Amino acid sequence: MSLHESSLLELIRREAEKHYALNDPGHDWLHAERVCRMCMRICEKEGGDPQVLAAAALLHDVGISYELEQGVDHAEKSVEIAGEILSRIGFPKEKMSMALEAIRVHRFRKRVKAASIESRILQDADRLDAMGAVGVARTFSHGGRRGIPMYSRRRETDSTVNHFYEKLLKLKETLNTETARRIAEGRHMFMEAFLSRFLKEVEGEA
Ligand code: FE
Repeated sequence: MSLHESSLLELIRREAEKHYALNDPGHDWLHAERVCRMCMRICEKEGGDPQVLAAAALLHDVGISYELEQGVDHAEKSVEIAGEILSRIGFPKEKMSMALEAIRVHRFRKRVKAASIESRILQDADRLDAMGAVGVARTFSHGGRRGIPMYSRRRETDSTVNHFYEKLLKLKETLNTETARRIAEGRHMFMEAFLSRFLKEVEGEA
Protein backbone atom coordinates (compact mmCIF):
# COMPACT_ATOMS: atom_id res chain seq x y z
CA MET A 1 0.00 0.00 0.00
CA SER A 2 1.43 3.41 -0.96
CA LEU A 3 2.04 6.23 1.49
CA HIS A 4 -0.91 8.09 0.02
CA GLU A 5 -3.13 5.05 0.47
CA SER A 6 -2.11 4.53 4.06
CA SER A 7 -2.65 8.15 5.00
CA LEU A 8 -6.12 7.97 3.42
CA LEU A 9 -6.79 4.91 5.58
CA GLU A 10 -5.65 6.81 8.65
CA LEU A 11 -8.19 9.53 7.82
CA ILE A 12 -10.92 6.93 7.39
CA ARG A 13 -10.03 5.39 10.74
CA ARG A 14 -10.30 8.75 12.48
CA GLU A 15 -13.63 9.60 10.86
CA ALA A 16 -15.16 6.14 11.19
CA GLU A 17 -14.30 5.62 14.83
CA LYS A 18 -16.49 8.56 15.89
CA HIS A 19 -19.61 6.92 14.49
CA TYR A 20 -19.42 3.59 16.25
CA ALA A 21 -21.71 3.07 19.22
CA LEU A 22 -19.95 3.09 22.55
CA ASN A 23 -22.65 1.10 24.27
CA ASP A 24 -22.80 -1.89 21.94
CA PRO A 25 -19.80 -4.21 22.40
CA GLY A 26 -20.97 -6.35 19.45
CA HIS A 27 -20.86 -3.55 16.88
CA ASP A 28 -18.27 -1.17 18.20
CA TRP A 29 -15.04 0.08 16.68
CA LEU A 30 -13.21 -3.06 17.85
CA HIS A 31 -15.61 -5.12 15.70
CA ALA A 32 -14.83 -2.93 12.68
CA GLU A 33 -11.09 -3.35 13.27
CA ARG A 34 -11.37 -7.13 13.60
CA VAL A 35 -13.41 -7.34 10.41
CA CYS A 36 -10.82 -5.17 8.65
CA ARG A 37 -7.93 -7.41 9.74
CA MET A 38 -9.84 -10.49 8.62
CA CYS A 39 -10.62 -8.87 5.25
CA MET A 40 -6.90 -8.24 4.74
CA ARG A 41 -6.09 -11.85 5.59
CA ILE A 42 -8.69 -13.23 3.18
CA CYS A 43 -7.75 -10.69 0.49
CA GLU A 44 -4.14 -11.93 0.47
CA LYS A 45 -5.36 -15.32 -0.68
CA GLU A 46 -8.48 -14.49 -2.65
CA GLY A 47 -7.53 -11.21 -4.33
CA GLY A 48 -9.57 -8.02 -4.48
CA ASP A 49 -8.53 -4.44 -3.89
CA PRO A 50 -7.13 -4.05 -0.35
CA GLN A 51 -7.81 -0.31 -0.26
CA VAL A 52 -11.46 -0.76 -1.18
CA LEU A 53 -11.77 -3.56 1.34
CA ALA A 54 -10.11 -1.72 4.22
CA ALA A 55 -12.34 1.32 3.65
CA ALA A 56 -15.48 -0.81 3.39
CA ALA A 57 -14.61 -2.87 6.47
CA LEU A 58 -13.84 0.11 8.71
CA LEU A 59 -17.03 1.86 7.63
CA HIS A 60 -19.42 -1.08 7.24
CA ASP A 61 -21.32 -0.55 10.50
CA VAL A 62 -21.02 3.25 10.95
CA GLY A 63 -24.81 3.53 10.74
CA ILE A 64 -25.42 1.07 13.55
CA SER A 65 -26.50 3.59 16.20
CA TYR A 66 -29.29 4.80 13.89
CA GLU A 67 -30.68 1.30 13.75
CA LEU A 68 -30.50 0.94 17.54
CA GLU A 69 -32.13 4.32 18.14
CA GLN A 70 -34.43 4.86 15.15
CA GLY A 71 -34.93 1.42 13.68
CA VAL A 72 -33.59 2.35 10.24
CA ASP A 73 -31.64 -0.25 8.26
CA HIS A 74 -28.02 0.09 9.33
CA ALA A 75 -26.50 -1.07 6.05
CA GLU A 76 -28.33 1.67 4.13
CA LYS A 77 -27.44 4.27 6.76
CA SER A 78 -23.81 3.13 6.73
CA VAL A 79 -23.67 3.60 2.95
CA GLU A 80 -24.94 7.15 3.38
CA ILE A 81 -22.42 8.08 6.09
CA ALA A 82 -19.54 6.23 4.41
CA GLY A 83 -20.25 7.98 1.09
CA GLU A 84 -20.11 11.34 2.80
CA ILE A 85 -16.82 10.52 4.58
CA LEU A 86 -15.12 9.00 1.53
CA SER A 87 -15.91 11.91 -0.75
CA ARG A 88 -14.90 14.44 1.90
CA ILE A 89 -11.44 12.91 2.39
CA GLY A 90 -10.83 12.47 -1.34
CA PHE A 91 -11.04 8.69 -1.62
CA PRO A 92 -10.43 7.68 -5.27
CA LYS A 93 -13.72 8.18 -7.13
CA GLU A 94 -13.41 5.03 -9.22
CA LYS A 95 -13.14 2.93 -6.07
CA MET A 96 -15.85 4.63 -4.07
CA SER A 97 -18.78 2.75 -5.59
CA MET A 98 -16.99 -0.56 -5.02
CA ALA A 99 -16.59 0.20 -1.32
CA LEU A 100 -20.18 1.43 -0.94
CA GLU A 101 -21.57 -1.61 -2.75
CA ALA A 102 -19.69 -3.93 -0.37
CA ILE A 103 -21.19 -2.07 2.61
CA ARG A 104 -24.68 -2.17 1.10
CA VAL A 105 -24.75 -5.96 0.73
CA HIS A 106 -22.80 -6.99 3.84
CA ARG A 107 -25.82 -7.69 5.98
CA PHE A 108 -26.57 -11.31 6.80
CA ARG A 109 -30.29 -10.87 7.26
CA LYS A 110 -30.73 -9.66 3.70
CA ARG A 111 -29.20 -12.81 2.24
CA VAL A 112 -27.99 -10.79 -0.70
CA LYS A 113 -25.64 -12.67 -2.96
CA ALA A 114 -22.55 -10.50 -3.24
CA ALA A 115 -21.25 -9.97 -6.75
CA SER A 116 -17.78 -8.43 -6.43
CA ILE A 117 -14.85 -10.13 -4.71
CA GLU A 118 -14.65 -7.24 -2.21
CA SER A 119 -18.34 -7.68 -1.29
CA ARG A 120 -17.87 -11.41 -0.93
CA ILE A 121 -14.86 -10.99 1.35
CA LEU A 122 -16.54 -8.37 3.57
CA GLN A 123 -19.58 -10.63 4.03
CA ASP A 124 -17.27 -13.50 4.99
CA ALA A 125 -15.17 -11.45 7.42
CA ASP A 126 -18.29 -10.05 9.11
CA ARG A 127 -19.78 -13.55 9.47
CA LEU A 128 -16.52 -15.00 10.80
CA ASP A 129 -16.62 -12.36 13.54
CA ALA A 130 -19.93 -13.90 14.68
CA MET A 131 -18.25 -17.28 15.08
CA GLY A 132 -15.65 -18.79 17.42
CA ALA A 133 -14.71 -17.40 20.83
CA VAL A 134 -15.39 -13.84 19.71
CA GLY A 135 -18.76 -14.97 18.36
CA VAL A 136 -19.64 -16.53 21.71
CA ALA A 137 -18.69 -13.34 23.54
CA ARG A 138 -20.64 -11.12 21.13
CA THR A 139 -23.71 -13.32 21.25
CA PHE A 140 -23.96 -13.34 25.04
CA SER A 141 -23.30 -9.63 25.12
CA HIS A 142 -26.11 -9.11 22.61
CA GLY A 143 -28.47 -11.35 24.60
CA GLY A 144 -27.65 -9.34 27.71
CA ARG A 145 -28.58 -6.12 25.93
CA ARG A 146 -31.90 -7.64 24.86
CA GLY A 147 -32.51 -9.00 28.34
CA ILE A 148 -33.19 -12.57 27.22
CA PRO A 149 -32.18 -15.68 29.23
CA MET A 150 -28.82 -17.33 28.47
CA TYR A 151 -30.57 -20.62 27.82
CA SER A 152 -33.94 -22.20 28.19
CA ARG A 153 -35.05 -25.78 28.56
CA ARG A 154 -37.88 -25.09 26.18
CA ARG A 155 -36.83 -24.93 22.56
CA GLU A 156 -39.36 -22.27 21.63
CA THR A 157 -38.16 -19.76 24.21
CA ASP A 158 -35.95 -16.97 22.91
CA SER A 159 -32.51 -17.49 24.45
CA THR A 160 -28.89 -16.88 23.60
CA VAL A 161 -28.15 -20.60 23.31
CA ASN A 162 -31.05 -20.93 20.85
CA HIS A 163 -29.48 -18.23 18.74
CA PHE A 164 -26.48 -20.52 18.17
CA TYR A 165 -28.74 -23.20 16.73
CA GLU A 166 -30.86 -20.80 14.71
CA LYS A 167 -28.06 -18.77 13.19
CA LEU A 168 -24.45 -19.14 14.28
CA LEU A 169 -24.01 -22.86 13.67
CA LYS A 170 -25.37 -22.35 10.15
CA LEU A 171 -23.01 -19.53 9.25
CA LYS A 172 -20.26 -21.74 7.86
CA GLU A 173 -22.60 -22.87 5.09
CA THR A 174 -23.15 -19.28 3.96
CA LEU A 175 -19.52 -18.28 3.34
CA ASN A 176 -18.40 -17.19 -0.12
CA THR A 177 -14.69 -17.91 -0.22
CA GLU A 178 -12.59 -21.03 0.29
CA THR A 179 -10.22 -19.15 2.60
CA ALA A 180 -13.07 -18.09 4.89
CA ARG A 181 -14.47 -21.61 4.90
CA ARG A 182 -11.12 -22.91 6.12
CA ILE A 183 -10.91 -20.32 8.89
CA ALA A 184 -14.52 -21.07 9.83
CA GLU A 185 -13.77 -24.73 10.59
CA GLY A 186 -11.89 -24.01 13.81
CA ARG A 187 -14.40 -21.37 14.86
CA HIS A 188 -17.32 -23.71 14.25
CA MET A 189 -15.69 -26.52 16.23
CA PHE A 190 -15.02 -24.15 19.10
CA MET A 191 -18.71 -23.11 19.25
CA GLU A 192 -19.83 -26.74 19.27
CA ALA A 193 -17.36 -27.59 22.03
CA PHE A 194 -18.45 -24.54 24.00
CA LEU A 195 -22.14 -25.43 23.71
CA SER A 196 -21.71 -29.03 24.68
CA ARG A 197 -19.66 -28.07 27.75
CA PHE A 198 -22.09 -25.24 28.62
CA LEU A 199 -25.13 -27.55 28.46
CA LYS A 200 -23.36 -30.18 30.58
CA GLU A 201 -22.57 -27.57 33.20
CA VAL A 202 -26.22 -26.47 33.13
CA GLU A 203 -27.22 -30.03 33.98
CA GLY A 204 -24.55 -30.23 36.68
CA GLU A 205 -22.71 -32.92 34.75
CA ALA A 206 -19.43 -31.17 34.18
FE1 FE B 1 -20.60 -5.97 11.13
